[in-house]
Amino acid sequence: MKITLIGTGSPIPDPNRAGPSTLVQAGGTNVVVDCGRGCTMRLMAAGVMPPMVDAVLLTHLHSDHISDLNDLVTSRWIMGPVDAPPALVIGPPGTARVVEGLRAMLALDEQYRLDHHADLRAGRGMAIEVREVSPDDEFSIGDVAVRVGRTDHRPVAPTVGYRFEHDGRSAVLAGDTVPCDGLDDLCRGANVYVQTVLRPDLVAIMQQFVPAQAGRLGDILDYHSSVEDAAKTAARCGVSTLVLTHCVPAVQPGQEADWIAQASPHFGGRIVVGPDLTSVDA
Ligand SMILES: [Zn+2]
Ligand SMILES: [Zn+2]
Repeated sequence: MKITLIGTGSPIPDPNRAGPSTLVQAGGTNVVVDCGRGCTMRLMAAGVMPPMVDAVLLTHLHSDHISDLNDLVTSRWIMGPVDAPPALVIGPPGTARVVEGLRAMLALDEQYRLDHHADLRAGRGMAIEVREVSPDDEFSIGDVAVRVGRTDHRPVAPTVGYRFEHDGRSAVLAGDTVPCDGLDDLCRGANVYVQTVLRPDLVAIMQQFVPAQAGRLGDILDYHSSVEDAAKTAARCGVSTLVLTHCVPAVQPGQEADWIAQASPHFGGRIVVGPDLTSVDA
């Protein structure tokens, strides 16, 4: 199983980092977890054209995690065979509402393309299948088994993380969450654990530069894992490799070791911090 960080950015736009998105590949199956800014573009760089995406799994419905979903489902439709199966979008309750709104936004585009391309009219249109899931649900995408876990990103709720199993290997895509029992259950013994993180020490510096938004910036501290939190979760759950992503603020080139140094006192396994398209084998 191969895990590729499609986008390592956060809600704060960054010239070098796409929004939160991670690709899980195993046995010919391609699963995209979250679909942030620039996800579709970066997937191409990872060698995955939109029609090759078997499913999009959403951890939660914050805009930074879904903002490129419109591009992915549209591109998947107009680039793929007319008899392709519907785009499969899986997420917590609320996902159907998001997709409904997205479909409304794209309705004119869909009609333009149907009017213009006779072969597309032979298909089912821009079909999207939505499945809303809850903690402890289990399902398969291709031959990858997926388990849903409860996370804690309150007041955003419900939120979920996903554990992927293939060929005796496991990877957890936690999404935005503070440490919690549901996250621990999901992570226990995993080969790879990918956690969205922030650095409270650097957020404090950002607050000094933008005092008008200091309160808003401070708010983000109470519903994300810090680097230290993620390292402690990794250690407590006995994971092998901790991958940090969705770093707030964005990791500046050359600062990766500084981020790793915040995690390493708490976790003795491998720690990965990298640019978009960094990949690890589970
Ligand atoms: Zn979030
Ligand atoms: Zn986020």
